[in-house]
Amino acid sequence: MKALTYYKTLGVSPDASLKEIRTVYRRLVKECHPDTNPNDPKAVERFKRITEAYEVLSDARSRRSYDRAGRSAGAGVAAEEKTVRRTRSRNVKVNLFLSLKQVYEGGVKKIRYPRTTYCVICGGRGKRNHSGAECGTCTGSGIVKFDHTVKVNYPAGIRSGETLVIAGEGHVPSPKVPAGDLMVTVLYKPHPYLEVKGDDLHYHCLIGLDQYIQGGRLRIPTISGRTFIFLEPMIADGETINLNGRGLPAHGAHPAGNLVITVQHCLPKKLSRKELEKVRELMQMPGWSPPIDSKGLFPRGEV
Ligand SMILES: [Zn+2]
Repeated sequence: MKALTYYKTLGVSPDASLKEIRTVYRRLVKECHPDTNPNDPKAVERFKRITEAYEVLSDARSRRSYDRAGRSAGAGVAAEEKTVRRTRSRNVKVNLFLSLKQVYEGGVKKIRYPRTTYCVICGGRGKRNHSGAECGTCTGSGIVKFDHTVKVNYPAGIRSGETLVIAGEGHVPSPKVPAGDLMVTVLYKPHPYLEVKGDDLHYHCLIGLDQYIQGGRLRIPTISGRTFIFLEPMIADGETINLNGRGLPAHGAHPAGNLVITVQHCLPKKLSRKELEKVRELMQMPGWSPPIDSKGLFPRGEV
């Protein structure tokens, strides 16, 4: 099997299992995230390449297309040639992977994909007009294959799974029928911190005991960059904070989503003898142990 770029990017073999790819990706995301490498100008590029490779290889369908076609198109395009031939469809289906930042901004992306047209030399017949000999241009198939590039405009806020139809950019099987369309399905690349749920974005925020007790300023990732929120002291475990309108941008019938921050208490997994002593000392203070009655039980409504 030839060495394909995405496999090389992740440093896995072309027959790596999905589990293996996931594990490697998680490690690389941690190592190569631009936030962890603020002084490395190449970190962003590297991170992008890793994410792009993962997006294609973690999806069974796009991985198969990729294995077939190699790295044919920059954005992880998976043209369904096989389907096209079987159903004689004139439409070409490709996937366009966008980061949340691209979704936020909207923009233009070049898409390169394999396209076919009838052979103009023989008019798609595969034979020379007079002699009946095989057409040298299409070697008798009547069809010419080539790589075609189209610029696709995607609007800000386009939702994952939506398909943009670019009319007339599909296959042209004969001079008698109009060209098919290019169907571009948008899929989101995974974000290292934010999870998309409907129109909302979710962020899981772990806080330590000190932040729980004192509250304070928290750095939060958003679709448009970073922001800060002020955490109230004594915020409950599992409490959510809503940043209205900071989810996916409004698009079509979709309203703008929210950024939902879920706070999770981070408790120590292991304590030293010295730390344990301090905790015991604290537990003697009023308010540190749960309220219990004389029978050693929690009365109703006392929590
Ligand atoms: Zn021909």
